[in-house]
Amino acid sequence: MNVLVIGAGGREHALCWKLAQSPRVTRVLAAPGNGGTAEVAENVPVRDDDIPGLVALAKKENIGLVVVGPEAPLAAGISDEMAAAGIPCFGPSAFAAQLEGSKAFAKTVMREAGVPTAPFGVFDDAEAARAYVREKGAPLVVKADGLAAGKGVVVARTVDEALAAIDDMMVARSFGAAGARVVIEDALLGEEASFLAFCDGENFALLPSAQDHKAVFDGDQGPNTGGMGAYSPAPVLPEAKYAETAELCIRPILKHLAGLGHPFRGVLYAGLMFTTAGPMVLEYNVRFGDPECQPLLLRLDSDLVEILFACVEGRLRPELVRVRPETALCVVLAAPGYPGGYPRGMAISGLAEADAVPGVKVFQAGTKVEAGRAVTSGGRVLGVTALGPTLLDAKAGAYAAVAKLHFEGCHFRRDIGDKGIARAKG
Ligand code: AMP
Repeated sequence: MNVLVIGAGGREHALCWKLAQSPRVTRVLAAPGNGGTAEVAENVPVRDDDIPGLVALAKKENIGLVVVGPEAPLAAGISDEMAAAGIPCFGPSAFAAQLEGSKAFAKTVMREAGVPTAPFGVFDDAEAARAYVREKGAPLVVKADGLAAGKGVVVARTVDEALAAIDDMMVARSFGAAGARVVIEDALLGEEASFLAFCDGENFALLPSAQDHKAVFDGDQGPNTGGMGAYSPAPVLPEAKYAETAELCIRPILKHLAGLGHPFRGVLYAGLMFTTAGPMVLEYNVRFGDPECQPLLLRLDSDLVEILFACVEGRLRPELVRVRPETALCVVLAAPGYPGGYPRGMAISGLAEADAVPGVKVFQAGTKVEAGRAVTSGGRVLGVTALGPTLLDAKAGAYAAVAKLHFEGCHFRRDIGDKGIARAKG
């Protein structure tokens, strides 16, 4: 079977790498892919927002399964279009993808499905939003309703900060149409973790817990990024709690969406905050997280094609998802200036040496091959991922490989996994 992976990040390199291992797969194509996917797949220069182009590509190449990495094509209806063309596609419909594409939709579904989440209000009018902020008082979180590449959330410590965020989103339209509506919710305190499940519309199969590192600098300082590292499992959500956590945040959503006539097929990602009152859902994503995908797929011990097909065909069983007992940890190497502006085209050295470190796999994100050598082409450049018997071992392996890699101005966090290490020590 031929498989088409859509997207161009570290997540998509990890997906291509894992799919290429399946005995059922003949060819893997990546659209548009990156320097890493080029090693395990055939890159095709079709952009991830060119839905007619992707459908035409899938038809032309006799694709038996489309796997969608990023959220934007899902929100734009790629799954529906592929289904209409008779092509099996892993990823939710545009309706179900609103769980990520509209924060107001997600919060309303959570409330209707009885999922624990922060109290909130939804506003289309800036003056009404300001009045809510003044009445509630700080701290509050102001969120642009639509997709804003992970940047449309402001945790406001004061009323003035919340009012400024409203002006920025609703009046100045810093995030364009995404900010025409805002969600304002109570700020929660606690440690965060990600909990992902494969879903077939009715049934789900859990992946182990993971933890992302959003801030650019050590100690969670500095502006938010797409993610500077991740590891799995996250001790804040131990295996003994998976089943009850899924009953809180996965099953009610599947049941609710199926009841609306829009069953959810794909990866459902719950962003959780572990508060003193128990876990609360901060957000849903409708696809693998990046970088969480990288440690999760390094731990996955079953055939990914089998799982994805079972989801598409509505015959998923939890036993299909087997996971290695080791811990996996990923450190992201970023371009200088990221998450602000950054240069491109810097030569990358040490890829083969880093990959040769035992237990390590280097996933490439913002890279491309130019005149036979790897150069940077994005903000997050590499996801250096290692498997180890413990979190400490996985961390040591990943940083040993990081030490072998170089490009001009490269920066990375040195504390990936430290929250989990501290928690494991008690
Ligand atoms: P979201 O895209 O909704 O997950 O928000 C991005 C980040 O903002 C989360 O990972 C949290 O760190 C933070 N955040 C979101 N909602 C809240 C909340 N209600 N309380 C505290 N922090 C939040």
